[in-house]
Amino acid sequence: MPRPEKYVSRSDLGWGASGASYANPKKGLVVHYDGSNQNLAAKDHSACIAYWKNTRKFHTGPARGWADLGYSFGACPHSYVFEGRGLYKYQAAQGTTPGNRDYYSVTLMCGPSDEITDAQVNAVRQLREWLMEPATSIAGTVKGHRDFVSTSCPGDKLYRMVRDGVFSQPAVWGGGVPDLSRPIAKPKPTPKWENPAKGTIPGPRHDFPLPKGHVFWRKTAPNWSVSGHYHRVFKGRSAREWLKEFGAQLARRGWSVGKGKTYLRRYGNDGLFGPEYEDLVEAFQRAQGLDQDGRIGPATWTEAFHRPVT
Ligand SMILES: [Zn+2]
Ligand SMILES: [Zn+2]
Repeated sequence: MPRPEKYVSRSDLGWGASGASYANPKKGLVVHYDGSNQNLAAKDHSACIAYWKNTRKFHTGPARGWADLGYSFGACPHSYVFEGRGLYKYQAAQGTTPGNRDYYSVTLMCGPSDEITDAQVNAVRQLREWLMEPATSIAGTVKGHRDFVSTSCPGDKLYRMVRDGVFSQPAVWGGGVPDLSRPIAKPKPTPKWENPAKGTIPGPRHDFPLPKGHVFWRKTAPNWSVSGHYHRVFKGRSAREWLKEFGAQLARRGWSVGKGKTYLRRYGNDGLFGPEYEDLVEAFQRAQGLDQDGRIGPATWTEAFHRPVT
């Protein structure tokens, strides 16, 4: 999807490029609010522009002293997405270094009892879809500020919407707003093991097929990273086939893997390493007590093919 349809860029605001340092957030989008009510939904859009400029003044002023406005983006009740730090910048919003480095942030520019408009929700949905494009390719995850640190942000109402998956629904494009009166089918918590086969080692006992120092990981990394995107052959099978074999093995171990499932939901087990495989690998590593680096190296591979299901 293209950039959100109603977009207020830094240059629209008369600002130069952000002085914040470079980051390449991949994990998702974090929702914020303003601790006090702003009542912007009842006001003209010019009030949102003034609010955004004031927020920047506050964040860069003596009270905070930050390099720039803390947020990557804002979303106003009139369906505009505002550029804050913008793409590829560290945040100052999430309160932890990994949070600020690995996630984009968006504030809904509203306080605890402010109205959150359907148009505003749609703006966040468009923003999320834009960020999920191949060029930026964040995972689709949406979190709330309080998932990172102890804070009231983004308020109970917004946080409930985050948890209910409201912002992860498809955006409406080409004008119009979503029908939010329709209840959203809550994603049911899928058990980690769909079909536990405890104590057994399912599937073929393949050994790690890559040369020393190589791992299955992103295609943008150097030669040691094998992504399945290029035709490379190891032990008589293509890298893509091996990566599919890994996905299939986790499915044999009871993981919910494949199109429409918990993991690899969007593109399925296609053997092309991307954010979806990275999420799966990290989840598997977490469950097995391994280092969560998102890469399939010998230890992770061995865990999948040679260790009994616990
Ligand atoms: Zn916040
Ligand atoms: Zn507005």
